[in-house]
Amino acid sequence: MGFDLNKKRTMASLRQRFSTETSNYRKYIHKDDEDNSKFQKPLPASHFMLILGLMLLTFSLVIIIEKQLPKGLTLAEEKDYPDKFIAERAFNILQNLTRIGPRTAGSYENEVLAVRIITSEIDSIIKEAHSNHIVQVDVQKASGAFNLAFLDGMTNVYQDVQNIVVKLGSKIDSSHSLLINCHFDSVLDSPGASDDGAGCAVMLEILRVLIHSDKILRHNIIFLFNGGEENFMPASHGFITQHKWAKEVRAFINLEACGAGGREVLFQAGPNHPWILETYSEEVPYPYASSLAQEIFQSGVIPGDTDYRIFRDFGNVSGLDFAWSSNGYVYHTKFDNIEQVPLGSLQRTGDNILALAKGMAQGHQLSNVENYRAGNLVFFDFLGAFVIRWPMAVADFVNFLSVIGSFYCIFWNLKEAKKYDDVSGKSYLTKLYQCMLIIVSSWLFCLVFSLGTAACLVGLGRTMSWYARPFWAFFLYVIPALVISLVTILIHAKYYNKDLELSPWTVFQLYYDAYQALWTIVLFIGILLRIRSSFIALTWVVFASLGNILKSKLFGRWRDSKWLFLHIFLIGLPFVQNFYLIIGALYLFIPVLGRAGSGSHAEYLVAVLMSSLFTTLFSFAVPLILLVKQVYKILNLLVALFLISLAVLLLTPMGFPYSGGPGIIAPQRFMIAHTQRIFHDSSGAIINKSNGYWMVDMDINSPHTVDYHVPIMKTAELIEKDCEKYLYCGLPYLVPVLTMIWKTHWVPGPEPRLLKPVNMTIIERTKTEGSQRLSFEINGPAHLGVMISPFEGVEINSWSIPTPEPLAGPMWNGRNTYFIYYAHGLDSVPFKFWIDFKVPLHHTGPIIDFAVTSHYLFGEGKASKPLKDMVGQFPSWTAVSYWTASYESWIL
Ligand SMILES: [Zn+2]
Repeated sequence: MGFDLNKKRTMASLRQRFSTETSNYRKYIHKDDEDNSKFQKPLPASHFMLILGLMLLTFSLVIIIEKQLPKGLTLAEEKDYPDKFIAERAFNILQNLTRIGPRTAGSYENEVLAVRIITSEIDSIIKEAHSNHIVQVDVQKASGAFNLAFLDGMTNVYQDVQNIVVKLGSKIDSSHSLLINCHFDSVLDSPGASDDGAGCAVMLEILRVLIHSDKILRHNIIFLFNGGEENFMPASHGFITQHKWAKEVRAFINLEACGAGGREVLFQAGPNHPWILETYSEEVPYPYASSLAQEIFQSGVIPGDTDYRIFRDFGNVSGLDFAWSSNGYVYHTKFDNIEQVPLGSLQRTGDNILALAKGMAQGHQLSNVENYRAGNLVFFDFLGAFVIRWPMAVADFVNFLSVIGSFYCIFWNLKEAKKYDDVSGKSYLTKLYQCMLIIVSSWLFCLVFSLGTAACLVGLGRTMSWYARPFWAFFLYVIPALVISLVTILIHAKYYNKDLELSPWTVFQLYYDAYQALWTIVLFIGILLRIRSSFIALTWVVFASLGNILKSKLFGRWRDSKWLFLHIFLIGLPFVQNFYLIIGALYLFIPVLGRAGSGSHAEYLVAVLMSSLFTTLFSFAVPLILLVKQVYKILNLLVALFLISLAVLLLTPMGFPYSGGPGIIAPQRFMIAHTQRIFHDSSGAIINKSNGYWMVDMDINSPHTVDYHVPIMKTAELIEKDCEKYLYCGLPYLVPVLTMIWKTHWVPGPEPRLLKPVNMTIIERTKTEGSQRLSFEINGPAHLGVMISPFEGVEINSWSIPTPEPLAGPMWNGRNTYFIYYAHGLDSVPFKFWIDFKVPLHHTGPIIDFAVTSHYLFGEGKASKPLKDMVGQFPSWTAVSYWTASYESWIL
């Protein structure tokens, strides 16, 4: 590559220095006729095109690397790999488990069949145990209750959930254990292959490898196969608060899924105990971890929670949380089947967790964890090759040093500009400040334009095109963001040096420094707010500063093509790393928008996300445009790409958001509860009764996308008025998610067949001065919900449920609400409890709104014929979860 430098110089160019705006325009937009090399733009348009091509290549390579999986070992290869994890064996176990079908907690499938498969697998593994190990097995049945400040907040009461626990004891007789956890139950209608049958299959194979090995373990490993996670985590609570081995757990590893297949990401670590992450970094062959993922997850934008929370909050133990995170489209649907689990995924997770478990169990820390408690780490992996990590204190120091170094570089350039362009320090600073403002404005312009595009698509009803095919987000929101960034600084550069005559190099340097200064400010704010993900800003600041130093040391003032190589190389490193983070976040986030509710503004969210992530990614590539001749060629190309893609999206079916395969599986989600609603007044008389299908709108296009296929959907009405009148809109919410999923529809329908209708009895009502006690007994199916809202002035004092205190949810008509979830195991046990209310002294009449919901999530009562017929009409690109439910309310 060589620059097309025009060597001819004439006096005309000197006159040009004092010229008008018009000539300035010529200088920076059409400068081919310019004849002073100092004011000549050195890069032909083709060079910039090459850089754009390089970016596309980078994107493709990172996407390919992101999908890389090791080869899964087969049983035939086992003899060559003794002591290795054999993926095919885990696969076979998973196949047996998923053949059962959905394994909802409380169902025969979960409580009997799944337990049988896992325990018989364990028995056959133990038979071949090496004499160096002591193995104990226990099947626990636990009952209890706890408050969960997740979603709108709820109290979870559970009866007879099952845990299968294996303790691989050390011959050294250690009293310290590492816990590894999975759950074998699934959500309704899902075979739960990735979530989380695979976690359990991986654990069984790890158990086999360890038990057959003659290597004596320093500490014990407890394998917990828990039978109730989807039920809001009662089983892990039952284990960590009640099991006889719980007290010896010093650290844990949790295996989960919020996607299917792919790589398992380490997305939560700690709290504290940096040694666990150190062990991970040193031991695992295929790392994938980032404190960015942790900060995103803990911010609550991903609706979901895991047993990690339970071990941390109720067991006061630290650990690691892993999940298969890509392909979240199939998560919690019928498509979460074995076909979505490649051998390579099992091999990868198996190799990693085996190495990690060995490393932790053989390490010295477990015997004295309190000594290693202090500290938190900043961590991230580079393209899955290795983990970069350092303590927060070191991060603060490095960040602070980089801030100082970065400002020094900018100061250096200020002096250089004086030397070469005769610009005073003050003018340079003023201009730098202007450039920073312009860059921030360009980001805002990008946002506004993206939101405008999103608004048009919403208006035209062509939303979520990127759901099944994320490349649409690139055409719709990334290309315009690039064009706007380029055009904004081109126009600004054209006008802003009327007062001073600057060479393109100095102009470029100014914008480069402005970007660097902005990132430095972001880094500085990150230090102040102690944000661990500040490492993102750090990578930009460090490499931009390095670029500044090397440029002036190696190339002097006038650069040639070698300088461009240096620029691409230095800026390329943070570019690659940050794109790798972006793609991981998008793979996680885009499928989530298919289940974030119809009020989620998904199109606008993606517009904002894509535009802001990519404008920042393009930071140091954008100023290069100031060195380029004939920029209109580049701009025309980009604008044409945008317009063509928009036309294809609007005029062809290519933009259809959903897909049922083959190839891409990205179904539209539906949740349908065939519901009976009964409302009583304060005298106990029924004042209202209705039957129908309650449609929970899972995404912004719900529910009318299927009207053509499911004609009854045309009668769906938005539920609005009921939300004021009745607690939780008078609807059988399975979980308290009213704040997130508040838009739902109602389709009038036949009366559902309730196999074991709710029978609520007030066993006792005692009134004393200023208080009342109500004792209840509720009979019904395995899953019940109780909603309570005390009248104004009335408060809940205490209740018989063993939680520290009643947990209030969102306000309803200015009153507190409480949500209790009750579920039992295979045997039916009625829900009995009492509540003590504080009542104003002269209060007479009722004191609470009270509602009971019931859910038939499995077995015979799950669906009657009309519901099955209706679900049968749904097209192949949908995933329907359906069950029978009831809602009955009283004023007591
Ligand atoms: Zn799960």
